[in-house]
Amino acid sequence: MELRLYDTLTREKRPFVPLDAGNVRMYVCGPTVYDFAHIGNARPVIVFDVLFRLLRHLYGEKHVTYVRNITDVDDKINARAARDFPGLPLNQAIRKVTEKTANQFHADVAALGCLPPTYEPRATDFVRPRVDGKADMVTLIKELIARGHAYEAAGEVLFDTRSMPDYGALSGRKLEEQLAGARVAVDAHKKNPADFVLWKQSSADEPGWESPWGRGRPGWHIECSAMSAAYLGDVFDIHGGGLDLIFPHHENEIAQSRCAHGTRTMANYWLHNEFVHVEGAKMSKSLGNFVTINELLADWPGEVLRLNMLKTHYRSPIDWTLKSVEDSARTLDDWYRVAADVHDGKLSQGILEALSDDLNTPQMLATLHGLRNGDLGAFAASLRFLGFLSKSAAQWESRKQEASGVDASRVNALIADRTAARARRDFKESDRIRDQLAAMGVAIKDSKEGTTWEVAR
Ligand code: AMP
Ligand code: ZN
Repeated sequence: MELRLYDTLTREKRPFVPLDAGNVRMYVCGPTVYDFAHIGNARPVIVFDVLFRLLRHLYGEKHVTYVRNITDVDDKINARAARDFPGLPLNQAIRKVTEKTANQFHADVAALGCLPPTYEPRATDFVRPRVDGKADMVTLIKELIARGHAYEAAGEVLFDTRSMPDYGALSGRKLEEQLAGARVAVDAHKKNPADFVLWKQSSADEPGWESPWGRGRPGWHIECSAMSAAYLGDVFDIHGGGLDLIFPHHENEIAQSRCAHGTRTMANYWLHNEFVHVEGAKMSKSLGNFVTINELLADWPGEVLRLNMLKTHYRSPIDWTLKSVEDSARTLDDWYRVAADVHDGKLSQGILEALSDDLNTPQMLATLHGLRNGDLGAFAASLRFLGFLSKSAAQWESRKQEASGVDASRVNALIADRTAARARRDFKESDRIRDQLAAMGVAIKDSKEGTTWEVAR
């Protein structure tokens, strides 16, 4: 079985051949930590978690390095810090915002069944040269200037896009086209309108670091060039993120990294997930049509949201609807009922084959449904491999009830009373208890195995 991945750069599905099977290396752009992440932001996290799990299976857990950064320097963060903590000095306010948001992000994606990446560098730790000698942004920018790929103008350092003959290859935007169609006002200090900021000056009340170009802060793209090089080297295997990152972010990462290191590529496979949509539009903060992971987790177990995401192939858009989430919840209820307490099976080859075809998760789900009605051992093992069944069947039931505000121990006590009433054939009392439960929003079901219950939605 061969892993094949669709590469945005070459626009084809290709067999995956790692540079070093002893250390397979993947970088995925992480969140800018100024606010709750929405369910659209969760898509790359879940998709690349599945790929991480697959790579670990294929190459061994110790032989895969997955880096996902945290962007903790950004003008949106500054604005949020000033708004939320007006009494604090900006630096302290920023730290409060970024720490709180990063913690929330970790809790959210853990609830979605995602493994932590191998490394999670924070941009602010990679601005200036480091004691451990790992790559940093200031040194990268110096290198770009020294090699004739960057210039200083009006207090900024800019990347000179004309210095790179094949700039634009990832997004397919030719520099000439960008120039010809330049309706954007050309900043007078730029040699070319497409040139982008590597470093900009900070005013006294903005966060800043000392540099050869004065006190300032980095542009967004240079962060990822530095942090990927720091942990994965100048050239690595897989670089991922959402579709909106192709241009300008990844295009510019490629330009910086290749020109600073003098390499022909930055990463060998570029993977991009499609968007989560709401009513036909991309879910985004700026449109205001978003629902946060945190809000959804108040209503649904994280595994329901994870399943709902994986029903669609990562290169197709998802329309996020309540109906689809409800279907996913019913599916998981069934899976937990039949498989949560099964522990003696092996990961199914069919699941691996589906995932190896460019993460074909719809195919994977079809295979799972087949196993559900056949080999329950392989079914349970495959679900665990995929980040499901993290709880026991009993925990799953009580989680559902907690989420709905029903007191599970009270319900269980009433059900015990009712069972006792039925045993002594006191059906009047048992019916009374059933009505009492119904009034609490709890539906019960009697079977040979006993009485189960669920919260009537
Ligand atoms: P941001 O915090 O906006 O930089 O986004 C973090 C990650 O989420 C990036 O990989 C984005 O491409 C991705 N992303 C943002 N919005 C969506 C969306 N609606 N659907 C899927 N991915 C998204
Ligand atoms: Zn990035």
